[in-house]
Amino acid sequence: MLVVGAGHAGATLAGLLRQAGHRGPVELFGDEVDLPYHRPPLSKKFAEGDLEQWLRPAEFYREQDITVRLGEHVVGIDRDGRRVRTGSGDFHSYDHLVLATGAEPRALPVPGAELSGVVSLRTLSDARILRKCVEERRALVIVGGGYIGLEVAAVARSCGVAVTVVEREERVLGRVASARLSEILAAHHREQGTHILNGAEVTRIDGADGRVRAVVLEDGTQIPCEAVLIGVGAVPRDRLAVDAGLVCAQGIVVDEHARTSDPRILAIGDVTRRPLGTGALVRLESIPSATEQAKQAVATITGAAPVAAEVPWFWSDQFDLKLKIAGLVPPTPHTVVRGDPAAGRFALFHHHGGTITAVESANSPAEFMAGKKFIASRTRIDPARLADSSVPLRDAVV
Ligand code: FAD
Repeated sequence: MLVVGAGHAGATLAGLLRQAGHRGPVELFGDEVDLPYHRPPLSKKFAEGDLEQWLRPAEFYREQDITVRLGEHVVGIDRDGRRVRTGSGDFHSYDHLVLATGAEPRALPVPGAELSGVVSLRTLSDARILRKCVEERRALVIVGGGYIGLEVAAVARSCGVAVTVVEREERVLGRVASARLSEILAAHHREQGTHILNGAEVTRIDGADGRVRAVVLEDGTQIPCEAVLIGVGAVPRDRLAVDAGLVCAQGIVVDEHARTSDPRILAIGDVTRRPLGTGALVRLESIPSATEQAKQAVATITGAAPVAAEVPWFWSDQFDLKLKIAGLVPPTPHTVVRGDPAAGRFALFHHHGGTITAVESANSPAEFMAGKKFIASRTRIDPARLADSSVPLRDAVV
């Protein structure tokens, strides 16, 4: 059993395989030098505490007889010979291969993106660089108002750093959140002193002596800064799969059992694109999704019963807001607001045809849990009762 990618999906799968009683050899290849770790703290807690939050201690892998090969980049798959090749030229054979190669930050193709002080955020070493920028109180421009950009903005502002978010779309979180949530969060960030520029496109980054000095926008505006975070999304690391001739569509295409177009090869985590019952293939980038697919792959490998589908969900921390989101936020939802956005405690229930399709909540765990259950069970709700916080959630069901 070979697993390529020692991130959340790959490491979870290796542990679950042993838990399910798989006795054969398990080898986990990772091209980073660190043991598998939690990535969510990298954007939420990079200014404080330990960044090195290992998924499992080193002893776990030893005790479970999981061979972890760190600093090993897998460069090719020989499907006919059922073996992989590493950068050091070694070959390793497999009965089953699991690709869990994740995603990497999308590059910003503008002049100056290579200057010192321009960073992206995916790995522990990226987070250490970002921490240094914040410790030195360097004025920060964040290109991209996605979840990672806004989380970093919140931490940096809380540390007293001057922060400007430059977003090409007309609102932050344009791809991943409802317009209402974008509006609420943008207002919250602005109240804390973050400058947010919407509809603003970066055309170049200027520097002096190799170091970043300003971000320049299409209309000529110059934003002086000493650090830049590029947060314009992530792209799947599917090169290995593409080269091996597996079916890919900006991500490795898998089914609901984590199977690729080769019966000997499975794929899980951020690198995959999969069916979610909506008709389209979706690429999710989240811990719950990676964990769910690790379970699917283990069931496929061990012949256990298929794993029941989970409603996709995600979380984010921004200032004092603990956000939890479930379901796929549709473009033009009907929305019920429960709670008080101004007080930082609310849930936006998006519904269609009498059932909930997604919930976006802040500091409202009960509403989040109820919303997730309503989505899974396609429960019919009464929007007026759901909007009334004095009505218990269960009484909103019709
Ligand atoms: P990864 O964790 O990226 O692991 C893939 C690993 O494979 C990497 O170590 C990579 O170096 C390695 N690799 C790639 N190619 C090769 C190769 N050829 N040979 C060897 N090794 C290879 N999700 C949430 O649900 N909530 C959050 O709050 C949240 N916050 C996040 C904050 C940040 C800063 C980031 C970057 C992500 C966050 N995510 C969050 C997303 C979550 O971390 C990912 O969905 C999850 O890590 C995906 O796991 P993965 O194993 O698919 O990919």
